Parts: sequence; C-alpha cells; structure tokens
Amino acid sequence: MNDILPGASSAWQHLESVLREVVHAYGYTEMRLPLLEKTELFKRSIGEVTDIVEKEMYTFEDRNGDSLTLRPEGTAGCVRACMEHGLLHNQVQRLWYGGPMFRHERPQKGRYRQFHQLGVESFGMAGPDIDAEMIFMTARMWQRLGLEHTTLQVNSLGTPQARSSYRAALVEYLKGRYDELDEDSRRRLESNPLRILDSKNPALQVVVEAAPVLPDYLDEESREHFAGLLALLDAAGIDYEVNPRLVRGLDYYSRTVFEWVTDQLGAQGTICAGGRYDGLVEYLGGRPTPAFGFAVGLERLLALLQESGVEFPDGCPHLYLVLVGEQGRLRGLVFADELRDALPGLRVQCNCDGGSFKSQFKRADRSGAEYALVLGDDEVEQQTATLKPLRTDAGQEVLQQQDTAARLRKLLASAPV
Ligand code: ATP
Ligand code: MG
Repeated sequence: MNDILPGASSAWQHLESVLREVVHAYGYTEMRLPLLEKTELFKRSIGEVTDIVEKEMYTFEDRNGDSLTLRPEGTAGCVRACMEHGLLHNQVQRLWYGGPMFRHERPQKGRYRQFHQLGVESFGMAGPDIDAEMIFMTARMWQRLGLEHTTLQVNSLGTPQARSSYRAALVEYLKGRYDELDEDSRRRLESNPLRILDSKNPALQVVVEAAPVLPDYLDEESREHFAGLLALLDAAGIDYEVNPRLVRGLDYYSRTVFEWVTDQLGAQGTICAGGRYDGLVEYLGGRPTPAFGFAVGLERLLALLQESGVEFPDGCPHLYLVLVGEQGRLRGLVFADELRDALPGLRVQCNCDGGSFKSQFKRADRSGAEYALVLGDDEVEQQTATLKPLRTDAGQEVLQQQDTAARLRKLLASAPV
C-alpha cells in the first residue's frame, strides 16, 4: 500500500482530471460507492474459483458477525447499488467511479495491495456500438494523456452455450496434457478451466498456446456481434489485435472482452481491461440486463506515462509572499487573498511564522514557487510590492500593489493560472 506524497500528488490529480474529463465528454456520470461490501457479493459476482476470491480478498467479521470484504474491484458494488436503487429498470445507464481497491497479492512492480482504478460501466445496451463507444473512450484517454506504446487486444467469448462446448473441448485437451499442468490448473480443470488460459505461470505457456481456441466455437449471433464491433473500430481507425486466447474466466461474461497492454512495464503490462457481462445482473437476482464495463489501473497508467517521459504539471505555488517587518506581516495575508480574488487559480503561499529575509527566501525557493513577492514596511507605506523571479535570471521589478495581479496574469500566461 503506497503513501502518495506531496511530490507525487499533482501527477495523480492531473491523471484523474484528464480521465474525468474524458468520461464526462461521453456523458457518463459518477457514482460514489462504499469501500466495503458483504463478502457474499464478491463470492457470487467474481466467482468462488478465482484468484481474487480464493487468495486475494481482505475479509473480516464486523461487530455483528457479518462477513465483510474490502472491495477488490468495483463492478460488483456498482451492480449491487444499481439494483438496490432501481437504476436498471426500464432505463439505460452510463456510469463511472474511481478509488482504491484491495487485493492481498504478492507485491511487485505494478502490483500492489491497495491500488486505484477508474471503473466505467454501462447497463441496458446489448449491441456492439456501446462496446465500441467505451473502447473509443479508452483510446481517447491515452491520446489526451499523450500516451503511445499501448496495444488493444480484443476477443469474443460468445454466449454461455457456445462457451460450454468450447469448455468441453478445452477440458478434453488439457486432460491429455495433465502431467504438464501445475497444481492450480489441475484444480481448475473441473471448476473453471478457462481461467487456466489466463495463468501467469510461464511454464504453462506451451500448453496454453496449443490449446483449442474460442473463436472456433462461437455461435452465429456472437460472430455477428464481434464483426459489428470490429467494423466500428475500423471506421474509427483504432488499431487492434484479435487475441483468441484472451479470456475472462467467469460464467457471466459474454461476447466482447478487451485489454490494453504495453510491453514497457514488464510482466504487469495490462493497464486497462474490460468486457461485456450480460449475465451478471440476473445472476445477482435482477432482471436480465446487458452490461459492459472496464477498469483502468491507475498506478500502471502513471508508471507508463512516467516511462514514456510524459511531463505533468508540478502543482507548485506560483508565488511566495516574503513579509518583512510588522507592516508587511499585517498586510501580507490580506494582500495574498486580494491576489487570489483577482486571479482565480493563482497558487499563493504566504510566509508564516516570521523569519529573516534570508530564511524566508530559502523557504520561497523550497516551495518551488516561480516568483517571490516582497512586502516590507517601505512597500506597504508606498503601496508597492517587489517581484523577484526565482527560476530565471530576470531582474526584480517594483509593482504598484493594485497592478500586481495584472502583471502576474501576463507573466504566468505561459504557465496557465
Ligand atoms: P492481472 O492479470 O494483472 O492480475 P487482473 O485481471 O487481476 O489483472 P482486473 O481485475 O481486470 O485485473 O483489473 C483491471 C486493472 O486493474 C488491471 O488491468 C490492472 O491495470 C489493474 N490492477 C489489477 N490488480 C492490480 C494490482 N494488484 N495492483 C495494481 N494494479 C492492478
Ligand atoms: Mg490479478
């Protein structure tokens, strides 16, 4: 679990604000959901025979003896909330949420026990156009963030019926190579064989690569649905790879699945994953409701942006007020507020707790501010202020206090206020 320290938080804010802007541009609205849900919800929705439920959940009993779990992902809670508040009845929904998720995994680069996701879900739309819209949205996120080096992989899982005939063929094949399977896979052979294809064990890759593939078992309608999606991606000029081994091994997933992957982050290369889950709402006790969603892993996305040398705004103050003498100290806090009123968005830090001229300038420098503005007794008397650039060799200027905001607006035009 990471502390996000002052030096890192502005990169997070930048990332989150760009992502928010993009989801809002598509007309999606935010849901704010609890971090805790009943354990049962995750067991049912994610499935008992998955890494998450078997090994990764933070589960505990509360004071009433109810079993609760820190959310390992957001879809389950989102569906629960929508059902509880009647948001799925005779209407479509386009929703998003963000925040921390918790999984007790082995910590490594790109894999943490508390990590952050942006989740986006839609309900009530069955056609491939909503799948395409949501994939367009992810492409726009990368574009707006200045990200290259990501590849879109897509596949179709078909209907549950198509998948069950595929499953039978897969099990037969895997039984023939039983000796090569690891312990997890042997256990999953009966319970959840599709998940074996998703195994992270490199020793299994040979077995996985020679396995029968799902597209050969697709039903006609799913084939058409998938062709419809690909046509929409083509029309938008979005490059993709069809990866017939891309699966999500849960029963309620159907048709489209996709991932955005990069080779720049080592083994943890998936920055965004999602797909269609038409069966889930009904499975959790609601009416049959088509649904599509995805989640972006923010730590990985941030790491990839840093890897690619994308620059973030630093969030430092624009201005540090150096206050000398009694008059300067009295006027300083008020003058700082006047500047904030005149220039919305201006970041001003005002020296507090006194200190010599020299030590105040040291603090100004450490704050990262671009300019120091000095108010001493003389300045106060003459209603002036002395502006001193801290990051360039440009000379200082004496300004009338009433002209200071206008001067700053001009100077900061290159670094938008
Ligand atoms: P992986 O195959 O990497 O284990 P997953 O299938 O468990 O991923 P999802 O449940 O699909 O992941 O979550 C969506 C995204 O959230 C992932 O693509 C990834 O970017 C991010 N993510 C998942 N688990 C973690 C984690 N432990 N730490 C950081 N990011 C994570
Ligand atoms: Mg995982």
